[in-house]
Amino acid sequence: MIPSNCPNCSARLELNDDGTCDHCGVDVTVMANEPLAGGSTDAAVVSPLAPDEGIALIRRADPAFDPAGFERRAEQAFLALGQAWQDRDREAARPLMSPGLHKSWSANVQMFVDEHKRNVLEGMRVDSLAPVKVVHGNAFDALTVRFTATWISYEVDERTDRVIAGDRTPQSFTEFFTFQRSVDARTTDGRFDWVLSRLQREADYAASADRSMRRG
Ligand SMILES: [Zn+2]
Repeated sequence: MIPSNCPNCSARLELNDDGTCDHCGVDVTVMANEPLAGGSTDAAVVSPLAPDEGIALIRRADPAFDPAGFERRAEQAFLALGQAWQDRDREAARPLMSPGLHKSWSANVQMFVDEHKRNVLEGMRVDSLAPVKVVHGNAFDALTVRFTATWISYEVDERTDRVIAGDRTPQSFTEFFTFQRSVDARTTDGRFDWVLSRLQREADYAASADRSMRRG
């Protein structure tokens, strides 16, 4: 059963296709079977924090949390996901993602398989990244990172090897990746315990932020 309010941030629940709460970005389906301590539905809505403030809060609970290390691993996840996407490799993507996101991402991969298409990505590189939003929720911390990246992206029909969409011009783009982990998590040596819960293109992120403001 889906609750009417988000168990993580207590906002009125608007569920996205990937199972995430539109307000805090965490995969709500992860929590479906876990009763939350004190998870009252009429608790005050947990507001998104400015990145500095949010990271300070995470470090207070987890002094070993290292923002530079986090950014390094976030960049690796970004590149690994691009590779998994062009390889149409669902298993490679699984450990990077929450179950809800993996389900919707896999459905997109399946569409390419069904249509005998491959999305070739060349020269993929991250030009810059920055944490832009933190939600310190009832069950999860959610940290949203803005990536600016460049790649060459085109689609090939695998039956003919012909390019059917896009071209070999490098393009820059911006995407927002939301990572989540339990609020009780503590950094232990070298382990990256954050999973991706939400991927948004620039326009989607702006629209979502706008909805939050109007609600709020
Ligand atoms: Zn929420």
